[in-house]
Parts: sequence; C-alpha cells; structure tokens
Amino acid sequence: MNVHEYQAKHILSKYHIPCQDFRVVSRVEDIEEAIDSLGVTEAVVKVQIHAGGRGKAGGVKIAKTREEIIRKTKELLGMKIVTKQTGPEGIICHKVMISELADIAKEYYVGLLIDRDVAMPLLMVSSEGGTEIEEVAEKSPHKILKVHFQIDGTIDEGSLDTVCRFLDWTEMTGEEGKKMIRNLAKAFVENDGAILEVNPLIEDKAGHLWALDAKFSIDDNALFRRPEIRAMYDQTQVTPAEAVAYEMDLAYIALDGNIGCMVNGAGLAMATMDLIKYHGGSPANFLDVGGGASKEKVAKSFGLILSDSNVKAILVNIFGGIMRCDVIAEGVIEAAKELNIQVPLVVRLEGTNVEQGKELLRKSGLKIIAADDLTDAAKKVVAHADTSK
Ligand code: ADP
Ligand code: MG
Repeated sequence: MNVHEYQAKHILSKYHIPCQDFRVVSRVEDIEEAIDSLGVTEAVVKVQIHAGGRGKAGGVKIAKTREEIIRKTKELLGMKIVTKQTGPEGIICHKVMISELADIAKEYYVGLLIDRDVAMPLLMVSSEGGTEIEEVAEKSPHKILKVHFQIDGTIDEGSLDTVCRFLDWTEMTGEEGKKMIRNLAKAFVENDGAILEVNPLIEDKAGHLWALDAKFSIDDNALFRRPEIRAMYDQTQVTPAEAVAYEMDLAYIALDGNIGCMVNGAGLAMATMDLIKYHGGSPANFLDVGGGASKEKVAKSFGLILSDSNVKAILVNIFGGIMRCDVIAEGVIEAAKELNIQVPLVVRLEGTNVEQGKELLRKSGLKIIAADDLTDAAKKVVAHADTSK
C-alpha cells in the first residue's frame, strides 16, 4: 500500500529524520490559516498523489510571495495530474502540501527495498538525486551504490563509511548522513516497508541533510499488524476496481484479456489462467476470492469482473474445500440476477456440497454452461469468448 508524501514524512519524523516543516490543505478556505501557522512568506506547494514525477507534471511549484502560495495552492487543488507513473488517465489531487523552502546545494537519491534474491533489505544511494533512478541505472549505473543491511534494520559501520565516501559526505555532513541512513533503515524495517525512496535527499548550503521528498510503500501482507498505516489508505488514489478489491479483501489484478476468472486459491487461479492461455484464450483478470468467501463477497467479485468492459465470457472455477460449492452458487445467482449478466458463464464446481451447488444453479433459471473438469471448462469458456467477439 502506498502512502502520501506527507504521511511518509510524519513517519520519518518519528525516526528523527529531518524534513522541512509543512501543512496539508484539502480546502481552499484552509489555505491562509495553513500559511499563518507555518509562518512562511515563500514556500513550495506540492500535490499529494500516489505517483512520483510530480515536479515534471507541474505538480510541484515554488511560490515566492504569500499571494503566490495561495494562488498556486488553489490551482493544484482538484487538478488532474498525469505522470509517467499514473498512466494517461491521471490522478486527481485532493490534498496539497505547503512546505518550507529548502536551500538546496546538492540533491541525492536514497532508496530502500527488499532484495528478494538474497532475502535481505537493500540500500541504494546515488549522487544523481532528483532524477528517476531507473534513468540513472540505465545511463550511468556506476553512479549507484548498493549495500545490503540486516533484516532487523541494523546497518554496519563499514557500509555506512562506504556510503559516505561514495557520496562525498565528510565531517558534519558525514555524521548526519550516517545517522539519517541508520534511521531510514530502522523506519523501513519497523514499518514493514516494501519500498522507501527519498528522492531527493538534499544537502543545504550549510551542509545539513534533509529528506525533501518521501515515497513509502508498505507491504500489504503486513498491514494487519500496522493499523496506523492501514488508516492512511486513500481510496481516491486507486482505480474503482482496486478500491472494491481492497474493501472486500480480494486479491484482484486486472489484465488485458477478455475472459473473466473467478477462482478460489491463488494456485488454482494461476493454473486456470494457464489453461485458458493453453487453449488459445486470454484472461481478463486474476481473482482469488479466498478460502471462506461469503455469498456477498462472491457477488462483489462478480461485480468487479463485470466492471471490465472487455470481458466477453466468465469462468467460475471453484474447488470447494473450506469454501462450500452451495455458497458459491448462491453468490453467483445473486450477482447474476442483480447485475443482469449478459455474457456467457461457464461454471466448474468440485468439492464440498457440490451437488447442492449444482442443483441451485440448475434451478436458478440462469443460462449457465456447466463444465465437468478444468480442461473442459477452459475449452468452453475460450470458445464462448471467441464467438461473442
Ligand atoms: P517528485 O519527485 O514527485 O517530482 P519532489 O518532491 O521530489 O517531487 O520535488 C521535485 C523537485 O522540486 C525536487 O527535486 C526539488 O528540486 C524541488 N523541491 C521539492 N521540495 C522542495 C523544497 N521544500 N524546497 C525547494 N525545492 C523543492
Ligand atoms: Mg521526488
């Protein structure tokens, strides 16, 4: 889950990482009070959206007078921002950060992530701050230093010295840099980070270091033990389908095919997608309704699948273990009636209460294409998706 820059900076401040002071506004009538309480006559105003590259997209503006701060904040509130990371549809900005200006002498890049190959957290630093790290990695990889650190968030002195030498941080700046990296590593691990990027981390004209920007993404699988981070979820920043999936705790990933898939269990979902491909079709989504899904959850899943206008046929493939086939059938019937499903529906049920499930479907009056096994189901759904093109 992504959090906004202002939320990331709240977290970083708890770890004594220096950030410029700021206020966040979401309403025009709050702008003046925010400026007063911040006590500034010049500032940078930044859109708070879940995407990087805001500067290039016109979402970061320097304002040199109070009037300019007000005007530019007003301009940004409600603005649609299109960056490389948002896709062409863009994201609407509902919150703007008004922040103290920094006296920038140099911009650095600092990123922390999990290196799955060696199962350790990884720190990446570069003197090429401000620009996208992907670009640096491509054009001048020697300008990036990578060092691993411990899963408990500790980073050894030798590595810290290497970082300081690489970035040319000496004396006071070096001491501040070491402290900052240590604290960043701690913040990353203690909050179950997936990615934490400070780009740029800056050195001001007096040689002090600051986190000027912060992008923090938390491992979704750890949210159950991070209620304070879960509370930062902002549904305005995700697609409607993703918002429903989040709310219903469904694993849903949209793909670009035309066969909607409703499956229980991630492994079976993957196998189902493979089989669809094998038989010449293309899945429109990955969806794992989970083990103990309720009738409502099944119905919601259906809604999700149908919200994708590319879907030409649906395959329901359920192996009822913990999940009961009759519950699935009830959910399918409820959703089919409510949503007036027009596309062919192929259903393969197996497992607990399978007879009750099949009976419910038979009696429902719905036009359902029954399949006997997985291959049969895949072949049938591919054929139906083809003919309804
Ligand atoms: P993004 O990465 O989304 O473009 P940043 O917060 O990194 O947004 O801002 C882009 C650039 O704007 C920074 O690289 C920096 O040059 C400038 N900038 C951002 N915040 C400040 C600030 N507080 N003071 C001065 N310049 C800033
Ligand atoms: Mg940035």
